[in-house]
Amino acid sequence: MTNQIPLAHGREYLAIPGPSVMPDAVLQAMHRPSPNIYDGELIEMMPALTHDLKCVAGTQHNVAIYIANGHGTWEAALSNVIAPGETVLAPASGRFTHGWAEMAEGIGAKVELIDFGMSSPWDLERIAEALRADSSHKIKAVLAVHVDTSTSIRNDIPALRALLDDLDHPALLMADCIASMGCDRFEMDAWGVDVTVTACQKGLMTPAGTCFVFFNDKAQAKRATMPRVSQYWDWQPRANPELFYQYFNGTAPTHHLYGLRAALDLIHGEGLEQVWARHEHLAKAIWAACDIWAQGGALHFNVTDPAVRSHAVTALRLTEGRGTPLRNYTETQLGLTLGIGLGMEDWDGCFRLGHMGHVNAQMVMAMLGGVETAMAALDIPRGKGALEAAAAALAT
Ligand SMILES: *Cc1c(COP(=O)(O)O)cnc(C)c1O
Repeated sequence: MTNQIPLAHGREYLAIPGPSVMPDAVLQAMHRPSPNIYDGELIEMMPALTHDLKCVAGTQHNVAIYIANGHGTWEAALSNVIAPGETVLAPASGRFTHGWAEMAEGIGAKVELIDFGMSSPWDLERIAEALRADSSHKIKAVLAVHVDTSTSIRNDIPALRALLDDLDHPALLMADCIASMGCDRFEMDAWGVDVTVTACQKGLMTPAGTCFVFFNDKAQAKRATMPRVSQYWDWQPRANPELFYQYFNGTAPTHHLYGLRAALDLIHGEGLEQVWARHEHLAKAIWAACDIWAQGGALHFNVTDPAVRSHAVTALRLTEGRGTPLRNYTETQLGLTLGIGLGMEDWDGCFRLGHMGHVNAQMVMAMLGGVETAMAALDIPRGKGALEAAAAALAT
């Protein structure tokens, strides 16, 4: 390995689960001078932009746009519906639910956390117990991370909705779709989600910096009872602006809006159903390769059941802490950057493959070829024929 010629020069491939690969169309749309923010094209593009954004979330209700990252969208959503001293329930199947719960504590909420560890989806029976125990309805919201990017678990949001309905519990269902929107099937209205949060740099393929809070009438009714909401986070003027500047409470994120417009054109040009189907098909090819590698005994899926795996990110484990050396090899020798083992106790033994957004079949084959090459260089035991298995899965 040490005497090898570096082979990383060429177009690099960032295969981490966000920020994701930026389409050339998005970059080109952003490469322009600042527009007038008081009149003209920028202002005129907003109704269609918010409409198309709501289509991706599967909602006909409201959207508020913020200049922030995913952490910002957590705080934005909570600030509108959770008053200090109120309780939220956080069923955690990965690092991101803990993050959202910490954010809730930061605004003065009490958090009931149910920790399902780093490899398991929600156990709905345990969530039901917590909701049943709450006969006085102290729990005002359930913080539901759809796809947890650290573990690659995909939780069952419709089942959680059904549970709340069965128990007649009035808590708001709040979904974090930062890693799933534009990748995994998500239908806010059809699934009965009250508040959905997402950010632009994953399935929405735009550089980090804007985020979105979608909310329905039930959430708006809770908002109306709040003793106070900070003016900057208040979703009301943003979702129903009388003047253009109210969309953003100040100067618009002009270039992000152009980039987002191009990204939404890509999504709707392909068709949302097709976008979801592409992610599913590519994920299955990746898993087919991983199944073969796993035969060597060193590589394991973090999530054993394919039915609860995300189609946008795959978390993997390598014995003897070989995740970090593998990542270092692909990055420095091959020009392929893989995701770190985020939030994992055995950090060095974990890595993640990002396959969200602007990713096609030949990119997936290149990524898998990079992993195969690194395993060969590092002498990691593995089953033979992983790339053939992925090719066969793509060809079916
Ligand atoms: C990326 C991510 C976040 C955090 O987003 P930032 O932009 O890094 O603040 C939160 N939740 C999920 C599920 C994510 O994938």
